[in-house]
Amino acid sequence: MAQWTKAQVVAKHYWTERLVSLQFEADIAPFKAGQFLRCGLDIDGDRVGRAYSLVNAPGEHPFEIYFNIVAGGQLSPRLATLEVGDAFWTHETSNGFLVLDEVPNVPDLWLLSTGTAIGPFISMLKTAEIWQRFEHVVLVHAVRTAEELSYSEFINNMLKVHTEKFHFVPFISREQVVNSIHGRIPAAITNLQLEKRVGLALNADRSHVMLCGNSGMIETTRNALAERDMIRHRRSVPGHVSTEKYF
Ligand SMILES: Cc1cc2nc3c(=O)[nH]c(=O)nc-3n(C[C@H](O)[C@H](O)[C@H](O)COP(=O)(O)OP(=O)(O)OC[C@H]3O[C@@H](n4cnc5c(N)ncnc54)[C@H](O)[C@@H]3O)c2cc1C
Repeated sequence: MAQWTKAQVVAKHYWTERLVSLQFEADIAPFKAGQFLRCGLDIDGDRVGRAYSLVNAPGEHPFEIYFNIVAGGQLSPRLATLEVGDAFWTHETSNGFLVLDEVPNVPDLWLLSTGTAIGPFISMLKTAEIWQRFEHVVLVHAVRTAEELSYSEFINNMLKVHTEKFHFVPFISREQVVNSIHGRIPAAITNLQLEKRVGLALNADRSHVMLCGNSGMIETTRNALAERDMIRHRRSVPGHVSTEKYF
């Protein structure tokens, strides 16, 4: 059984009123980019734990999680009240298969996220491996309003460093904003808007898609990709689509 260990908050950042990053130190085992860690607090005598993706590259300190305060949620509103110096619990080991090791060798990697599910992709973008392995890396971040486009400084820096290789497409559903797509990811796959915007074909011959976010987005995007014969990837049956569902 996974063991709990104490973590200590070393920094906290509010991106918006409900989007928070906590940086912390803890004695956790080495992890792969894209993996998640169970974090917890003792609430009314019970330890309440939830999974949170690490935003870090392996080996990078301090550790960081990025989450939204879910109204009425058991853990996330309480995690957000922690201040520098406060302690919480984490598992000693990280888990998850949304990692680069699991991606077949293809030219193009598409990373499609909603909301805080951009976290594991930021972790992957911080590794040397992603830039060595793929000809093109496309990051899609779907949010409701422009202020929710977190990590933009890091993304803009990656765009400068990997000019030919890296493509970033923000989707904003509730506002019309220049240079972003107004709408949702599955529709933009079906009507080809996403491919036209990036200037790359999205197909079973050259692409692998990683999806991370809410179940609605994952299901509808998987259906849109199935129309192109892009199927779920399994170790035993290689395919083109890997997923991680947050809720
Ligand atoms: C593998 C994995 C990795 C995850 N990584 C992250 C992460 O990096 N960042 C992050 O913000 N969340 C992440 N989550 C979700 C996280 O584990 C919690 O579910 C979330 O923080 C809500 O917990 P809570 O105790 O506050 O709410 P709960 O009391 O558990 O749930 C309240 C309700 O909120 C819904 N809900 C859960 N998550 C969200 C959400 N993100 N937005 C809106 N509604 C939600 C649930 O469906 C539930 O109905 C991850 C989940 C999984 C399975």
